[in-house]
Amino acid sequence: MPDASVREFDAVIVGGGLAGLYAIHRLRNRMGLKVRAFEAGSGVGGTWFWNRYPGARCDVESLEYSYSFSDELQQEWQWPERYGTQPEILRYINHVADRFDLRRDVQLNTRVTSALFDSQTNLWTLRTDKGDVVRARYCIMAAGNLSTPRVPDFKGLQDFRGKWYHTGLWPTNGVDFTGLHVGVIGTGSSGVQMIPVIARQAKHLHVFQRTANFSLPARNAAMDHDRERRHKAEYPARRAAAYDTPFAIAGYPKPDKAAFDVSEAERNAAYEAKWQEGGSISFLYAFKDLLVNKAANDTASEFVRNKIRGIVKDPRTAELLAPKDHPIGTKRLCLDTGYYETYNRDNVTLVDARSDPIAEITATGLRTGKQAYEFDAIVFATGFDAMTGALREIDIRTTDGASLDKTWAGGPLTYLGLMVAGFPNMFVITGPGSPGVKTQMIASIEQHTNWIADCLAHMAAKGYDRIESSERAQTEWVAHVNAVADSTLYPLANSWYMGANIPGKPRVFMPYVGGFDRYSRRCDQVAGKGYEGFTLSARQPAMA
Ligand SMILES: Cc1cc2nc3c(=O)[nH]c(=O)nc-3n(C[C@H](O)[C@H](O)[C@H](O)COP(=O)(O)OP(=O)(O)OC[C@H]3O[C@@H](n4cnc5c(N)ncnc54)[C@H](O)[C@@H]3O)c2cc1C
Repeated sequence: MPDASVREFDAVIVGGGLAGLYAIHRLRNRMGLKVRAFEAGSGVGGTWFWNRYPGARCDVESLEYSYSFSDELQQEWQWPERYGTQPEILRYINHVADRFDLRRDVQLNTRVTSALFDSQTNLWTLRTDKGDVVRARYCIMAAGNLSTPRVPDFKGLQDFRGKWYHTGLWPTNGVDFTGLHVGVIGTGSSGVQMIPVIARQAKHLHVFQRTANFSLPARNAAMDHDRERRHKAEYPARRAAAYDTPFAIAGYPKPDKAAFDVSEAERNAAYEAKWQEGGSISFLYAFKDLLVNKAANDTASEFVRNKIRGIVKDPRTAELLAPKDHPIGTKRLCLDTGYYETYNRDNVTLVDARSDPIAEITATGLRTGKQAYEFDAIVFATGFDAMTGALREIDIRTTDGASLDKTWAGGPLTYLGLMVAGFPNMFVITGPGSPGVKTQMIASIEQHTNWIADCLAHMAAKGYDRIESSERAQTEWVAHVNAVADSTLYPLANSWYMGANIPGKPRVFMPYVGGFDRYSRRCDQVAGKGYEGFTLSARQPAMA
């Protein structure tokens, strides 16, 4: 007899961010499937629900960084600035949830703790921290790549008498740093956005930098309404064009010249124009070989280092801020508003936590090997257990004895970033092995989800109830992902793409950097060849 306490769905979705919400829309509204999403947070929005730190905003322009699935939506919504702030993006996501009636299928405040695939019935059973047990044919992992905040395991944190925060777990009511002595640890994207804002409030701000990161000016501004009108008039064509680009962002002509095809003066003029324009794609598109030729990249890296030396008045601070341990663009490029200028303020001090590492957090602040600091508040801008953290926190197993945690112990293995061999009927949205994190992510989220939805429709039409990646297809894909990465400069950086920010995490290059255009074509080809590399089957004999 069926157990009445077990609820049954066609698909269970883990996560209520941009990916989880679009999955509800695509699978339920467009295909009529019975779905349920679980979200650990108390609201929808994922990244934009959790990351409420001061200065948080997107670094892809909002006219691009938005859903494309509804032309009405993209025509109606008005972005007040070139780059939306976190509150604005969260407002947009909530609007989408209401407009498409998505909220009723998201169960908030509920974390999925385990998922078990039964090889006899081809069904997943998921359990949550609230005691739910749900069963579904398909499990859609929309748990996020940057959703597992990482607070370094500093000795003494529990003894700190002030307040401490992580950028990815920011209090919903915000934090006022006015008049406080504040320590910020970390200078990645979040730190770079937050530091200028906190510096304007705090009595004194100490920034602890272990690794200097490249940051470019965002040139954020109020939305130019003529530009918005033109963009909206061309929206469908622009969205289609984005599919033909490596980063899923249209509007940046592909460069045809290599850095050494032009004179030094022309090269620097090109970099200067990009610096003035603002934005990371624009800068990396200055020349076609910046991410594959180290000598070419050195010219761009040195241009930015010289900019930093020109902005920051204290030469020692400027030299510390000028990144020298990785080629520009091989770690996530930061965009800022007044980041380097902030170090000219009297109330801001940069501490080199590489040469003098943080030894412990104390009751009143922290201590490096050489010095003690007193703080009212400490902010960890220390990033996330990226790409694999959220999935490895769920106990994912099959009745055949497979465990995802064990399968991925040496680094993530996927076929197309969409499925893991040995884990049938489980799809991952923008997982490792996909180009997701190297693109305008909402485009990748839509592309992945549409592919999954088409696959499920194909299976329903043919009477299949089980799909799995073959080991061979997965092995070949992982080898391809690595070969493409090795043909670029990306592996030269100790980045979160490599798992390098987490002690003990295997150093494996996780995203596919062959480009969104190449990837999405490959996904279409695979589907066109009857889901090549996947095995589709049915407990009952399938229709021919
Ligand atoms: C500060 C910041 C700025 C960014 N800016 C940009 C940008 O400008 N452009 C860009 O393309 N991308 C950007 N990103 C990347 C961003 O993560 C994606 O664009 C996008 O928001 C990802 O959506 P998602 O739904 O896939 O994942 P998320 O938004 O991370 O949502 C996943 C959700 O799943 C939930 N979850 C995880 N595990 C479980 C579980 N076991 N049970 C229940 N719920 C669970 C989490 O609570 C989370 O809410 C940024 C990321 C950060 C952190």
